[in-house]
Amino acid sequence: MKKQFVFATNNLHKLQEVRTILGNDFDVLSLQDIHCLVDIPETGATLQENALIKALYVKNNYGYACFADDTGLEVEALDNAPGVYSARYAGDDHNSERNVEKLLKELLDKKNRKARFRTVIAFLHDNQEFIFEGQVNGTIATERKGNSGFGYDPVFVPEGYHETFAEMGENEKNKISHRALAVQRFSIFLKSLRVG
Ligand code: IMP
Repeated sequence: MKKQFVFATNNLHKLQEVRTILGNDFDVLSLQDIHCLVDIPETGATLQENALIKALYVKNNYGYACFADDTGLEVEALDNAPGVYSARYAGDDHNSERNVEKLLKELLDKKNRKARFRTVIAFLHDNQEFIFEGQVNGTIATERKGNSGFGYDPVFVPEGYHETFAEMGENEKNKISHRALAVQRFSIFLKSLRVG
Protein backbone atom coordinates (compact mmCIF):
# COMPACT_ATOMS: atom_id res chain seq x y z
CA MET A 1 0.00 0.00 0.00
CA LYS A 2 1.20 3.51 -0.77
CA LYS A 3 2.39 5.55 2.16
CA GLN A 4 0.06 8.43 2.93
CA PHE A 5 1.23 11.88 3.91
CA VAL A 6 -0.62 15.10 4.40
CA PHE A 7 0.87 18.11 2.69
CA ALA A 8 -0.32 20.96 4.93
CA THR A 9 -1.57 23.22 2.18
CA ASN A 10 -4.76 24.27 0.46
CA ASN A 11 -2.90 25.75 -2.47
CA LEU A 12 -3.86 23.54 -5.41
CA HIS A 13 -0.93 24.75 -7.52
CA LYS A 14 1.54 23.67 -4.84
CA LEU A 15 -0.26 20.39 -4.30
CA GLN A 16 -0.10 19.59 -8.00
CA GLU A 17 3.59 20.52 -8.18
CA VAL A 18 4.43 18.34 -5.21
CA ARG A 19 2.33 15.37 -6.38
CA THR A 20 4.05 15.48 -9.75
CA ILE A 21 7.52 15.51 -8.25
CA LEU A 22 6.89 12.82 -5.62
CA GLY A 23 5.28 10.64 -8.28
CA ASN A 24 3.10 7.60 -7.77
CA ASP A 25 5.01 6.11 -4.87
CA PHE A 26 3.25 8.31 -2.34
CA ASP A 27 -0.33 9.30 -1.64
CA VAL A 28 -0.26 13.02 -0.87
CA LEU A 29 -3.39 14.39 0.80
CA SER A 30 -4.24 18.07 1.14
CA LEU A 31 -5.76 19.80 4.18
CA GLN A 32 -9.08 19.75 2.37
CA ASP A 33 -8.80 15.98 1.91
CA ILE A 34 -8.61 15.54 5.70
CA HIS A 35 -11.34 18.15 6.30
CA CYS A 36 -8.98 20.56 8.01
CA LEU A 37 -10.49 23.88 7.06
CA VAL A 38 -8.48 26.03 9.45
CA ASP A 39 -6.17 28.67 8.09
CA ILE A 40 -3.21 27.60 10.24
CA PRO A 41 -1.64 30.77 11.63
CA GLU A 42 1.89 31.34 10.35
CA THR A 43 3.31 33.13 13.37
CA GLY A 44 6.95 32.09 13.01
CA ALA A 45 9.80 34.52 12.42
CA THR A 46 11.43 32.30 9.80
CA LEU A 47 10.34 30.06 6.94
CA GLN A 48 11.50 27.02 8.90
CA GLU A 49 9.45 27.98 11.97
CA ASN A 50 6.33 28.46 9.86
CA ALA A 51 6.77 25.15 8.07
CA LEU A 52 7.17 23.38 11.42
CA ILE A 53 4.12 25.13 12.91
CA LYS A 54 1.94 23.91 10.03
CA ALA A 55 3.26 20.34 10.06
CA LEU A 56 2.92 20.09 13.86
CA TYR A 57 -0.62 21.44 13.76
CA VAL A 58 -1.72 18.64 11.45
CA LYS A 59 0.21 15.93 13.27
CA ASN A 60 -1.11 16.99 16.70
CA ASN A 61 -4.74 17.56 15.66
CA TYR A 62 -5.26 14.95 12.97
CA GLY A 63 -2.56 12.37 13.65
CA TYR A 64 -1.28 12.12 10.09
CA ALA A 65 2.34 11.98 9.04
CA CYS A 66 2.71 15.41 7.61
CA PHE A 67 4.97 17.80 5.82
CA ALA A 68 4.56 21.49 5.24
CA ASP A 69 6.38 24.10 3.25
CA ASP A 70 6.89 27.78 3.58
CA THR A 71 8.22 29.93 0.81
CA GLY A 72 9.55 33.44 0.74
CA LEU A 73 10.64 35.79 -1.99
CA GLU A 74 13.83 37.54 -0.84
CA VAL A 75 14.69 40.71 -2.73
CA GLU A 76 18.25 41.95 -2.30
CA ALA A 77 17.57 45.66 -2.65
CA LEU A 78 14.76 45.41 -0.08
CA ASP A 79 16.93 43.80 2.62
CA ASN A 80 15.46 40.40 1.74
CA ALA A 81 11.85 41.55 2.10
CA PRO A 82 9.15 40.38 1.72
CA GLY A 83 10.76 37.09 2.89
CA VAL A 84 8.70 35.33 5.55
CA TYR A 85 5.97 37.95 5.01
CA SER A 86 5.62 37.27 1.26
CA ALA A 87 1.96 36.21 1.50
CA ARG A 88 1.00 39.27 3.55
CA TYR A 89 3.27 41.83 1.88
CA ALA A 90 0.44 44.18 0.91
CA GLY A 91 -1.92 43.26 3.76
CA ASP A 92 -3.52 40.42 5.67
CA ASP A 93 -5.84 39.41 2.84
CA HIS A 94 -3.07 37.42 1.08
CA ASN A 95 -3.82 39.12 -2.22
CA SER A 96 -1.19 38.17 -4.81
CA GLU A 97 -2.29 40.89 -7.19
CA ARG A 98 -1.68 43.58 -4.59
CA ASN A 99 1.53 41.93 -3.33
CA VAL A 100 3.00 42.08 -6.83
CA GLU A 101 1.83 45.65 -7.26
CA LYS A 102 3.55 46.68 -4.03
CA LEU A 103 6.75 44.86 -5.00
CA LEU A 104 6.92 46.59 -8.40
CA LYS A 105 6.34 49.94 -6.72
CA GLU A 106 9.06 49.37 -4.09
CA LEU A 107 11.52 48.50 -6.85
CA LEU A 108 10.63 51.40 -9.18
CA ASP A 109 13.79 53.38 -8.43
CA LYS A 110 16.07 50.39 -7.78
CA LYS A 111 18.72 49.23 -10.24
CA ASN A 112 19.41 46.02 -8.35
CA ARG A 113 16.46 43.70 -9.02
CA LYS A 114 18.11 40.49 -7.82
CA ALA A 115 15.86 38.16 -5.86
CA ARG A 116 15.53 34.58 -4.85
CA PHE A 117 12.72 32.24 -3.95
CA ARG A 118 13.47 30.04 -0.98
CA THR A 119 11.36 27.07 0.14
CA VAL A 120 11.73 25.21 3.39
CA ILE A 121 9.98 21.89 3.90
CA ALA A 122 9.47 20.46 7.40
CA PHE A 123 8.69 16.75 7.68
CA LEU A 124 7.64 15.06 10.90
CA HIS A 125 8.46 11.39 11.02
CA ASP A 126 9.00 9.01 13.96
CA ASN A 127 9.03 11.94 16.40
CA GLN A 128 11.83 13.60 14.51
CA GLU A 129 11.89 16.79 12.45
CA PHE A 130 13.56 16.86 9.08
CA ILE A 131 14.18 20.05 7.12
CA PHE A 132 14.76 20.37 3.35
CA GLU A 133 15.52 23.56 1.43
CA GLY A 134 15.53 24.70 -2.14
CA GLN A 135 16.20 28.04 -3.70
CA VAL A 136 16.28 29.65 -7.10
CA ASN A 137 18.02 32.92 -7.93
CA GLY A 138 16.63 35.40 -10.40
CA THR A 139 15.49 38.97 -10.96
CA ILE A 140 12.24 40.87 -10.64
CA ALA A 141 10.87 42.03 -14.01
CA THR A 142 9.61 45.59 -14.41
CA GLU A 143 6.11 44.41 -15.31
CA ARG A 144 3.94 41.30 -15.10
CA LYS A 145 4.31 38.76 -17.89
CA GLY A 146 2.60 35.41 -18.41
CA ASN A 147 -0.52 33.72 -17.15
CA SER A 148 0.48 30.46 -15.57
CA GLY A 149 1.52 29.74 -11.98
CA PHE A 150 0.57 31.90 -9.03
CA GLY A 151 1.80 34.47 -6.52
CA TYR A 152 4.88 36.35 -7.70
CA ASP A 153 5.38 34.11 -10.78
CA PRO A 154 4.47 36.84 -13.32
CA VAL A 155 7.40 39.03 -12.18
CA PHE A 156 10.09 36.47 -11.33
CA VAL A 157 12.67 35.73 -14.03
CA PRO A 158 14.90 32.81 -12.98
CA GLU A 159 18.64 33.10 -13.62
CA GLY A 160 19.66 31.91 -17.09
CA TYR A 161 16.19 32.56 -18.56
CA HIS A 162 14.49 35.50 -20.26
CA GLU A 163 10.94 34.64 -19.34
CA THR A 164 9.08 34.81 -16.06
CA PHE A 165 7.90 31.69 -14.22
CA ALA A 166 4.38 32.60 -15.37
CA GLU A 167 5.45 32.65 -19.04
CA MET A 168 7.41 29.44 -18.70
CA GLY A 169 4.46 27.25 -17.76
CA GLU A 170 4.24 24.83 -14.87
CA ASN A 171 6.19 21.96 -16.45
CA GLU A 172 9.27 24.06 -17.07
CA LYS A 173 8.96 25.81 -13.72
CA ASN A 174 8.73 22.47 -11.93
CA LYS A 175 12.11 21.46 -13.29
CA ILE A 176 14.00 24.34 -11.71
CA SER A 177 11.88 25.95 -9.01
CA HIS A 178 12.76 26.48 -5.36
CA ARG A 179 9.93 24.17 -4.31
CA ALA A 180 10.92 21.55 -6.89
CA LEU A 181 14.46 21.47 -5.48
CA ALA A 182 13.25 21.20 -1.91
CA VAL A 183 10.74 18.49 -2.84
CA GLN A 184 13.38 16.57 -4.84
CA ARG A 185 15.61 16.55 -1.74
CA PHE A 186 12.64 15.44 0.35
CA SER A 187 11.80 12.74 -2.17
CA ILE A 188 15.37 11.35 -2.16
CA PHE A 189 15.20 11.25 1.62
CA LEU A 190 11.86 9.41 1.61
CA LYS A 191 13.19 6.85 -0.82
CA SER A 192 16.34 6.35 1.26
CA LEU A 193 14.17 5.74 4.32
CA ARG A 194 12.16 3.24 2.32
CA VAL A 195 9.05 4.92 3.62
CA GLY A 196 6.27 3.88 1.30
P1 IMP B 1 3.50 30.30 1.18
O1 IMP B 1 4.61 29.36 1.18
O2 IMP B 1 2.28 29.74 0.55
O3 IMP B 1 3.23 30.88 2.53
O4 IMP B 1 3.91 31.45 0.21
C1 IMP B 1 4.19 32.75 0.60
C2 IMP B 1 3.94 33.70 -0.53
O5 IMP B 1 4.84 33.46 -1.59
C3 IMP B 1 2.54 33.66 -1.13
O6 IMP B 1 2.18 34.99 -1.43
C4 IMP B 1 2.68 32.88 -2.39
O7 IMP B 1 1.77 33.31 -3.37
C5 IMP B 1 4.11 33.19 -2.78
N1 IMP B 1 4.71 32.02 -3.42
C6 IMP B 1 4.99 30.83 -2.85
N2 IMP B 1 5.50 29.99 -3.75
C7 IMP B 1 5.52 30.68 -4.93
C8 IMP B 1 5.90 30.33 -6.25
O8 IMP B 1 6.32 29.21 -6.56
N3 IMP B 1 5.78 31.29 -7.18
C9 IMP B 1 5.30 32.54 -6.91
N4 IMP B 1 4.91 32.90 -5.70
C10 IMP B 1 5.02 31.97 -4.72
